[in-house]
Amino acid sequence: MNHSIDYRTLKINGIYQSNAAGDLMLRVKLPAGVLSAVQATVVADLADNFAGGTLHLTCRGNIELHGLRGENLAQIFRRLQSVGLTSRGACGGAVRAVACNTDGGSFDRIQLLVERLHQHFTGNPYFEGLPKKFKLAVENGYQGARHLCQDLALVYLGREGERELCDLWVAGGLGRQPQEAFLLANRVPVERLLPLVEGVIRVYQQHAPAGKRLKHLLAEIGEPQFRTLLAKETVGASVLPLSSPLDDQFGAAIAPGINGWIEWPVSAGQLAADALRRAAAIAGETGDGFLAISREQNLLVSLSTGVDKSALSTSLTKAGLFSAEPALPCRVCPGSHECPKGLVATRDLLCQLDKVLGSQGRAHSWAISGCPNGCSQPQLADYGIVGTGKATEKQEDRYDLLHRDDEGFGQPIRTGLSRDELLAALAELG
Ligand code: SF4
Repeated sequence: MNHSIDYRTLKINGIYQSNAAGDLMLRVKLPAGVLSAVQATVVADLADNFAGGTLHLTCRGNIELHGLRGENLAQIFRRLQSVGLTSRGACGGAVRAVACNTDGGSFDRIQLLVERLHQHFTGNPYFEGLPKKFKLAVENGYQGARHLCQDLALVYLGREGERELCDLWVAGGLGRQPQEAFLLANRVPVERLLPLVEGVIRVYQQHAPAGKRLKHLLAEIGEPQFRTLLAKETVGASVLPLSSPLDDQFGAAIAPGINGWIEWPVSAGQLAADALRRAAAIAGETGDGFLAISREQNLLVSLSTGVDKSALSTSLTKAGLFSAEPALPCRVCPGSHECPKGLVATRDLLCQLDKVLGSQGRAHSWAISGCPNGCSQPQLADYGIVGTGKATEKQEDRYDLLHRDDEGFGQPIRTGLSRDELLAALAELG
């Protein structure tokens, strides 16, 4: 390990130290989860060379490389830069990767918004050094209620005459104190969005104490005071178009995924580098050269205008990239397998869950988080499992079980369960 490198300062570049042995995690930011086949090949090569041949797909559409060593970072960053990939702001007090859901219509317009926001905030010194992370998303409608858990979510409503409109939700978050976002402004024309988004981040930057999220600031000052501060920040704000004539004329013809995606379920988001490389090769030869990471941690191969879906499916199937057996739809964070905050072994639990639930489990959505930080968004699944206690000599590992049955966050239905108690409770659900 190169002791001249101060890893704490590298957080803003997407690096975390994972353990006392000095292993590192690097998170690559993918706006809207989309990456080209060329980029995917480079990431697969990096995973093979430096991360034990595996990548982790996150439920915000990013890719994490775990088990890296400091002496290889320069080479890794050089390779990422060579294909236009960045990890700037993927960790630390910055605007994180702009997430978006890849399903539904209008994906060309959504992607455009995501890309503009990504370009505007990534590496912009005015919006770095924030009190804590700032999670931004563009949601393609209200399904799944993902807008509720973001620091700021734009919910795209589509066109109305000449105007494109979004609702704007703020101050949501999960973690130990889950807080549903509130509607800050509705039916906002897209050309008015950027000053509003900037204004929200400035209010957060100037008024939240270090280490606190926007939801904590709202809890402290209340919505009326927040709105007053925001009004001061946005007074006289300009109208800024977010698309260019090129986007307006050719957006749908050049955007990846405009005719949907072929989805490859990736269990627990753990993808072998070689599988990504083979999928990238097929996307390049038979598809349009683009892939994406879905918010369910699956790999998607793009179907855009002119792509022959059946030829692409055949190539992927022949390459052995699809399993005949459908997987349990479950988002899973790295847990104690790789995350320093992990209290429980999330991937091991997934295997047990699959056995206990059988095919009936596939009728619901699931999420497992290795600690109450809730990175796999357990409050947004039909059933969420949160590790709350680490196994010690005196105590078994502990879990809370959450259930979601309305439009808000899922709520705990059982708490403090041992693993056996959890599995028994799940078997009863069947
Ligand atoms: S939920 Fe906890 S264990 Fe899982 S990735 Fe987030 S911080 Fe780590």
